[in-house]
Amino acid sequence: MGENVIALAQRMSLVKPSPTLAVNAKAKQMKAEGADILNFSVGEPDFATPDHVCAAGIKAIEEKFTRYTAVPGIIELRQAIVDRFKEDHGWEYEPDQVQVSCGGKHGLYNMAQALFGAGDEVLIPTPYWVSYPPIVTLAGATPVEVPLEEKDDFDLTAENLKAFATAKTKGIILNSPSNPTGAVFSEKSLRAVADMALAEGWVVIVDDIYDTIVYNDEPLPHILDIEPKLKDQVIILNGVSKSFAMPGWRIGYSLGPKHIIAGMNKIQSQSTSNPSSVAQRAALAAVSGPQNFPRDMKVSFQPRRDFIIAELTSIAGVTCVVPNGAFYVFPNLSAYFGKAFEGKKIEGSVDMSAYLLEKSFMATVPGAAFGADEFVRFSFAASMDDIKEGMRRLKEALSNLS
Ligand SMILES: *Cc1c(COP(=O)(O)O)cnc(C)c1O
Repeated sequence: MGENVIALAQRMSLVKPSPTLAVNAKAKQMKAEGADILNFSVGEPDFATPDHVCAAGIKAIEEKFTRYTAVPGIIELRQAIVDRFKEDHGWEYEPDQVQVSCGGKHGLYNMAQALFGAGDEVLIPTPYWVSYPPIVTLAGATPVEVPLEEKDDFDLTAENLKAFATAKTKGIILNSPSNPTGAVFSEKSLRAVADMALAEGWVVIVDDIYDTIVYNDEPLPHILDIEPKLKDQVIILNGVSKSFAMPGWRIGYSLGPKHIIAGMNKIQSQSTSNPSSVAQRAALAAVSGPQNFPRDMKVSFQPRRDFIIAELTSIAGVTCVVPNGAFYVFPNLSAYFGKAFEGKKIEGSVDMSAYLLEKSFMATVPGAAFGADEFVRFSFAASMDDIKEGMRRLKEALSNLS
């Protein structure tokens, strides 16, 4: 090393490294060394992008559709998104109320940069998706965790909202179906959010990335249907990563009031300029083409969900809220905390995930990553054979603790 060690920016101390990274790195290393690792830590569908979508991407390359595009995305894609929302939900948007970004997470990042800053508090129902607090923090605002209870099926209540709202609250981030719990917010809880948001002038960020993966036959309750008057205060975040199995293409989209989307476009223009031209053409094929793919995917997830829930809830001491959407289960394994294997005590979810990886060769994500240390997240975007073997290994691992 030279004499001068360059210090990182002060903001770097505000963001903690993800606790998932240690487990992931270890799983990769063990796999590379030949271990028979079952991977339940993945946050993406175990499906390939549909052929007609890939073909559109290939055609875009062949046509040399490879220049910069408009900052908010190509007009054809924004129009297709507007049309899809009208057809699926009856919601009226204009193309200049849509921003296409480099993935759903990037849309969230643009939104936070455009809306949140020093002195603002943002309510985040907890367990939360890992990226919400750091994205709010990097915008200079303060994430405020609103704890959701397992006994309430991880639904929000007016009481917990009121307990954490202050004069500084600028908004709230909702994710339904939720990653990591799979919970779907009830109409009652969304009514409570809508009432508070109208009364206090909050912005309501709705991350609908799992809205096509819902297991009961009832339509997914949505705050815009429950309270149409809230439209000028709602930002919808979505994308094709989950619905069309396209996480690597990096296309997400946001819809909201014109001036907020314009602010997000300003941020995007000074950072990524535009999402990939080729990936936008592929996303256009996804959004405007046949919609059976997300439905088929959901149908194939359903028996895996039913099986994994039946297995988990048959284990002594384990409780698990039945996920109504997404492809995760979030069992409470805290009955096994304080027990030990070969003298090594399991103190919390990070130890539990490490134990399952080291002794049972299964990768999971500790609940601590989602702000809920009693739990461990298992993705069931895995084959039925892997899920069966995984549940066998889990039972064995838990019974070996004393
Ligand atoms: C996967 C995911 C996203 C979007 O991911 P991208 O890959 O950036 O499109 C957004 N929110 C949640 C909760 C997710 O799980």
